[in-house]
Amino acid sequence: MPSYVEPAKCDGCKGGDKTACMYICPNDLMVLNVESMLAYNQEPDACWECYSCVKICPQGAIFVRGYDDFVPMGGQVHPMRSSDSIMWTVKFRNGNMKRFKFPIRTTAEGAANAYASEKGASLDDECLLLESDLPTPK
Ligand code: SF4
Ligand code: SF4
Repeated sequence: MPSYVEPAKCDGCKGGDKTACMYICPNDLMVLNVESMLAYNQEPDACWECYSCVKICPQGAIFVRGYDDFVPMGGQVHPMRSSDSIMWTVKFRNGNMKRFKFPIRTTAEGAANAYASEKGASLDDECLLLESDLPTPK
């Protein structure tokens, strides 16, 4: 189910040209109402529930109503990023809370290339990726 913005928490990213949620949404769904300085999901049906806007919002103002195969009915899952980790807080409808902390990738944006040393990883290579590992036909 789609993301939604908690109006009491959103500060419109303090009036920048593009808010953090507008910048990060892969589907260009988030927009800012410049009169109220509140962001909202303009097309909830098209939301992928990817959580990118939830993770990036500096005010923790965006939530996603999860499906109950992932989040218990009536529960909430909320991530909080720091420079080296991400903390997921799961809040159950009976008030119980669980927290899980995981390290995050620290590779610079655009620098990760798991196949850099493999033959065929470059467009200049004549073979396909991993082609050299295939048995030679006899
Ligand atoms: S990123 Fe958060 S604080 Fe900034 S405009 Fe979007 S919902 Fe509001
Ligand atoms: S959950 Fe993903 S697709 Fe949905 S509004 Fe946020 S960033 Fe966009």
